[in-house]
Amino acid sequence: MLSPATASASDELNVPEAVRALAEQLSRQDAALPAYVYDLGGLDSHVAAIRAALPVGVEFCYAVKANPDPAVLRVVARYADGLEIASGGELAHVTAAVPGARLTFGGPGKTPAELAAAVRAGVARFHVESPHELRQLGVAAAAAGQTADVLLRVNLPPEETASAPAGPASREGLVMGGGPTPFGMDPSLLDDCARWLTESTPETRALRLRGLHAHLASGLDAAAALAAAGRILDFARRWCARQGVRNPEINLGGGMAVDYQKPTERFDWAAYGHGLAHAAQINGETLRVEPGRAVTAYCGWYVTRVLDVKPSHGKTFAVVAGGTHHLRTPAAKGHNQPFAVVPVEAWPHDWPRPAAVGQATLVGQLCTPKDVLARDVHLPALRGGDLVAFAMAGAYAWNISHNNFLMHPPPSFHHIRVG
Ligand SMILES: *Cc1c(COP(=O)(O)O)cnc(C)c1O
Repeated sequence: MLSPATASASDELNVPEAVRALAEQLSRQDAALPAYVYDLGGLDSHVAAIRAALPVGVEFCYAVKANPDPAVLRVVARYADGLEIASGGELAHVTAAVPGARLTFGGPGKTPAELAAAVRAGVARFHVESPHELRQLGVAAAAAGQTADVLLRVNLPPEETASAPAGPASREGLVMGGGPTPFGMDPSLLDDCARWLTESTPETRALRLRGLHAHLASGLDAAAALAAAGRILDFARRWCARQGVRNPEINLGGGMAVDYQKPTERFDWAAYGHGLAHAAQINGETLRVEPGRAVTAYCGWYVTRVLDVKPSHGKTFAVVAGGTHHLRTPAAKGHNQPFAVVPVEAWPHDWPRPAAVGQATLVGQLCTPKDVLARDVHLPALRGGDLVAFAMAGAYAWNISHNNFLMHPPPSFHHIRVG
């Protein structure tokens, strides 16, 4: 058995040959490191496998906020039925990067200007977060002379959670809806929306209720995600039937797990797809999922160089170029980012090369003790000048990072094209 710390070291991780070759090439260029490298070939096969594992008829949208890199989006869009955006900024970005993509618009706090822009852009589905937002969407759609298609976002009632089956999934059930959150609506608010929609005004006539949306938890394994889907379907089918929504659409959200301590494992899309096929047997109903992290996490690599290594009161610290202002993921999630060491033999100085053997903490260049990429990890050897390739840096990585803190230069960006 490997310890969790060992799982972060190079022997566990397979750096794709193209990524390793590019890292070595970049290390010979001035100021090319740190770098983000996106393995688009690996992404292509991964997303193709996700699509293939999901039943025909279950729609697959990608949550753009996980990684909006244009080249990444274009690969994902080959297989996805749509892209889920959550702001006017993402709307403008995605319509430029992937013209013609089918869009769904979710997220809290949509402004009237964002709603109007989304209506004009022909967004296919709006995930509405509150009765007030529904009215604002009605105003925007009526003013544009268009119809907006709506899924109301639900925060499941507590009893839906309490009726979860026993077993590992019910533990995840505790994470699910039923508690106070800024996301979605309590069932009573859903009912308020439905009641308002029965009035006949220019605003209500500009809206078409299509079904319900739920995104209740993240980090779910396939069994937990299926249990969540079961509870959502149970509630949504009954609610839609009660409200007379014909051919209801039910969006089950994202949140499929990515285990940063097991970089070679993947969410079990086959088991999830199998379970959904079993659950999705009602004619006229459309199911939709919208994962983000589990789609793009694996395609990204943050490649950098060891600037210094030194002991400190019994521990060893390796300082790499860049840090959590480029790759905030380990600080945000509280994990060790898995990495591989790419040794560099050249050492241009006439003094001893600083080195860590056995164990080290990998930190960045920020003047804060929080700038830790991997703590107390076991290593074969790590020397000043070696390269470090951090894996699983393709989702919630660069785009969630506070890159202006300390004003170090940004990373360079590279894409390994589909082969
Ligand atoms: C963030 C988000 C997702 C994607 O979640 P992942 O954990 O990245 O799969 C899907 N739907 C909504 C509404 C979200 O906010």
